[in-house]
Amino acid sequence: MPQFSATSYDLTDAGTAQNRIGGTWVDAIGGETMSVLNPRIGHDMGQVVMSDANDVDAAVAVAQVAQVGWAATPIKARAQILHRWRVLLEANLDELSWLVAHENGKLVGEGRASALKGIECLEMAISVPNAIQGGILEVSKGITCQHRYEPLGVVAGVVPFNFPVMVPMWMAPLALIAGNAFILKPSEKTPFGMSRFVELAEEAGMPPGVFQLVQGGRPAVEALVDHPGIKAFAFVGSTRVAKLVYGRATALGKRALALGGAKNHLVVVPDADVEMTATNVVASSMGSAGQRCMAASVMVAVGDVTAVVDAVVAKCKALTLGVDVGAIVDPAAVARITQHIDFAVAAGATLLLDGRNATPPAGAEDGCWVGPTILDNVTPDMPAGCEEIFGPVLSIIRTDTLDEAIAVENDNPYGNAAAIYTSNGGTAEYAIGKFEAGMCGVNIGVPVPREPFAFGGWNDSRFGHGDITGADGYRFWTRGKKVTGKWALSSDNTWMS
Ligand code: NAD
Repeated sequence: MPQFSATSYDLTDAGTAQNRIGGTWVDAIGGETMSVLNPRIGHDMGQVVMSDANDVDAAVAVAQVAQVGWAATPIKARAQILHRWRVLLEANLDELSWLVAHENGKLVGEGRASALKGIECLEMAISVPNAIQGGILEVSKGITCQHRYEPLGVVAGVVPFNFPVMVPMWMAPLALIAGNAFILKPSEKTPFGMSRFVELAEEAGMPPGVFQLVQGGRPAVEALVDHPGIKAFAFVGSTRVAKLVYGRATALGKRALALGGAKNHLVVVPDADVEMTATNVVASSMGSAGQRCMAASVMVAVGDVTAVVDAVVAKCKALTLGVDVGAIVDPAAVARITQHIDFAVAAGATLLLDGRNATPPAGAEDGCWVGPTILDNVTPDMPAGCEEIFGPVLSIIRTDTLDEAIAVENDNPYGNAAAIYTSNGGTAEYAIGKFEAGMCGVNIGVPVPREPFAFGGWNDSRFGHGDITGADGYRFWTRGKKVTGKWALSSDNTWMS
């Protein structure tokens, strides 16, 4: 794949995103392709090949051979290659940021931040040999028990459109440092960013076939899940698909972890700092145009927090499309988001700010845009109060007490994130202790844990056990081997000898 030349938002051709198999760019065997939209401009920026089971077969066959040599490479040497990869990613950060901005519609600063978070996950993997060793202990006279982490073989990951390089980097570095060969299926909407990541990994010394890409949609995913050569399967995407693929993989007896969608609640109580809370709520709900699984889509206003609501509305009114808020991924998503707003208004919600028909940036009139939208007096039973909208829409639900607010969060089936805004430590501890969510924030609207603290929700936001990053992520991609041995000849025997 040629270097991506854009240094502005102008429409730039990225060519065709192909499969990377055995260190070579190849078309899908069936020859099928699909257009890739630049959502900001509203015109195609390239094509992606659409793979099926034959392409997955080809990738797995190559990976099975490559994995043997990779697993036989000492972990410290694998870490050196990952370290060189990190250096190359940093050196190419501008290109990667623009590429993500173009394929996803994000602002370039958001593309950059997501690439940097991906690099942080790579750093976590590089530190594995120093941080997560096995263990050995003399458990009886002359007898040792040892725990080793061994790779699983060939493993796979499937990712969503909204963080085209960050989410894959939750998976790939930990799977690779463990000695597995990893096959990634990017979103067909955003297939380019990881193509450059894989190319740079090979430039850093990753042997061909160890980290491969199979592009496409549902047929490629199902083939990866079903292939007997794939030993573990990780997924990040919507809850509907997460449930499907998790059920399919585990029915085959496979190790699987599938992260799903979210409906995150920010609970604001009257003693919250007005300026800090409003700034944070706006950043959380409108950042990445609300297309993040950690976005605050509901603000639960406890009692009289009029000053915070007024400040949120004022700050959102001041946001400019294309400068402060990026594009929506495609026309279907624009239609879904606007329909949610229509339904909420029809159901009795108060529209404090209407982003339907907001003015697009100059030169991007054909793009996919929804402006910041704020719905007040939403109830938890309205779709806007309980379903994932995945757009720049903040629903405000009113409650009289903190316990009612916590119940709103906990009655929702999702469990990715929840946050409390208060200046009282006791109130914060009380809420955090009660929230049914895997990632909680105190005065933080996007409580994504920094590595090594791991990423992972609860309930309908995660199917399977453990988090996807951090030490849990490493354990997911490995299996423990326990070795009990006796070398020393000793007359001092115990019951174990
Ligand atoms: P999606 O579920 O539509 O697609 C995700 C992946 O699944 C893509 O690679 C796609 O090709 C594939 N896919 C789609 N339909 C499929 C099917 N029927 N069978 C098999 N595979 C299929 O999700 P999306 O629209 O790309 O991404 C947005 C969703 O991802 C949101 O719900 C968001 O909350 C979620 N997400 C969750 C997290 C998290 O950590 N929990 C992180 C990022 C995004």
